[in-house]
Amino acid sequence: MNRVIKKTISNVCALKIQRKSFCTEIVKAAGSTDGQFINEHEKKQTSSNNIQQYDVAIVGGGMVGMALACFLASMPLTKQLSVAIIDSNPALGSGLCIKKDDPPDPRVSTVTPASISFLQDAGAWKYVEQNRHAYFDKMQVWDYTGLGYARYDARDVNKDFLGCVAENKVLHSALLSCIKDSDLKKTIYPLRLTSMTLNPSSTSMVDVSVASKESSAQGQSAKLQLSDGSSIYAKLVVGADGGKSRVRELAGFRTTGWNYSQNAIICTVEHASENRYAWQRFLPTGPIALLPMGDKFSNIVWTMEPTESNNCKSITEEAFLKDVNSALDYGYGPHPTSSLSRNRDILSWFKMDQTLSANEFFEIPPKVVRLASERMVFPLSLRHANSYASKRVVLIGDAAHTVHPLAGQGVNLGFGDAYSLSRIIAEGIALGTDIGEVNLLKKYEADRKPANITMMAILDGLQKAYSIDFGPFNFLRAAAFSGSNYISPLKRSIISYASGEQKLPLFL
Ligand SMILES: Cc1cc2nc3c(=O)[nH]c(=O)nc-3n(C[C@H](O)[C@H](O)[C@H](O)COP(=O)(O)OP(=O)(O)OC[C@H]3O[C@@H](n4cnc5c(N)ncnc54)[C@H](O)[C@@H]3O)c2cc1C
Repeated sequence: MNRVIKKTISNVCALKIQRKSFCTEIVKAAGSTDGQFINEHEKKQTSSNNIQQYDVAIVGGGMVGMALACFLASMPLTKQLSVAIIDSNPALGSGLCIKKDDPPDPRVSTVTPASISFLQDAGAWKYVEQNRHAYFDKMQVWDYTGLGYARYDARDVNKDFLGCVAENKVLHSALLSCIKDSDLKKTIYPLRLTSMTLNPSSTSMVDVSVASKESSAQGQSAKLQLSDGSSIYAKLVVGADGGKSRVRELAGFRTTGWNYSQNAIICTVEHASENRYAWQRFLPTGPIALLPMGDKFSNIVWTMEPTESNNCKSITEEAFLKDVNSALDYGYGPHPTSSLSRNRDILSWFKMDQTLSANEFFEIPPKVVRLASERMVFPLSLRHANSYASKRVVLIGDAAHTVHPLAGQGVNLGFGDAYSLSRIIAEGIALGTDIGEVNLLKKYEADRKPANITMMAILDGLQKAYSIDFGPFNFLRAAAFSGSNYISPLKRSIISYASGEQKLPLFL
């Protein structure tokens, strides 16, 4: 045990010394007023021997890339690392100041209890709670045929809530605040990655006195070229640059996937009083979700055919609100209230272990009275990188996998990736391994790939199951609703799985 501790301490010291030798240029601290809180890189890069060297370069400072930086900042072993974050998104440089009464954004994420727990441990969640957010403890799912519905309640699994909805800008700014308040040696490059060399030659070194030391360090690094023509070196490049990842392309990772012939139209709406539940109704063209956001606001995520979505985006507010209220109520088919007592009888042998929510009746969602944001349209696709890791490069978040938003899992899978990768990097440091070593990075892939593929398969299956409008199949689907509503072990395992626990639902 003592030997492990000694080795860990000596590895951390070695890391610090190495970093010192890497940092041939002192980063310029940007003015600290008005949110300008993170070091920005020194734009003036006079000669090739002045190239900055980092332990980790995170390409893409979206929610997942920033979460990785937070997780690294929160562990004793990894907070010693020097980290470059590359993203031209102005929100990173300005440290966007969010106020609780700002108008709501159209882009939100449903964050699972598992992700909340990761973000709490890293110290980021408290910043989310300072802004608008909404925990919800109940959810109702039903379909347009009127044949079945399911109610889920956090109390079914002895939890306080099923999830929390927060605007993406709130999540992003919380992660930025967390990084700002940490000791992590971070440098933000407000640029884009343009190209990457994974085994750069050391011949460009000019300064003879430090050449051998630096060339050996750079031999163990990837070289990243940025959009202003400058370059940096990093021992590990993390592609957190979204669904159209440049890192993935440059590293030659192939993908498998397809585009759905569906778009999602999203917007924020207002009710006469606060909505406290999450609602999802499956319509013949795709699901519509109404998610509570706090302050009488809800977010709409409505999947439909591209022509319909374009139409929905351009019609008047009045016509759009009418369509939304109809889609969440009597439009397309009847309410499923009549099925409750019948299904309860059929499934009466499960009565002994009934969940609390199995006794709840169908409810009609609250009416929408006002459009509170612009309407945005997103094309939907499923894409998965065949491999997440090779020497010096690793993919996380949407760069590794893009999923259908029908269950609000995309960023949660990404947070899971970031959490896992941060632990694997810490393990590498503790063992004295090069953090860009492929064998180490493959451990991250082995940890995350099965979980991500399983979730992708479930979401794709659901998408397909609800795209079929065919009599006998509709009954099967209604039976599945009833089963998930009344069969308690199945219901509990569905809630736990959707909450981010790794255990699979019983039916798989
Ligand atoms: C309609 C809709 C609703 C959704 N709802 C939910 C939900 O409720 N819950 C949920 O969990 N998920 C949801 N998702 C999915 C979620 O939004 C994504 O999974 C998540 O945003 C992915 O985060 P990311 O950081 O991996 O990628 P992104 O958010 O795409 O961020 C990538 C970042 O990389 C930067 N970048 C790109 N290229 C470069 C480059 N060459 N150099 C430097 N930087 C670069 C970009 O500027 C960007 O900041 C939804 C998605 C959609 C479309």
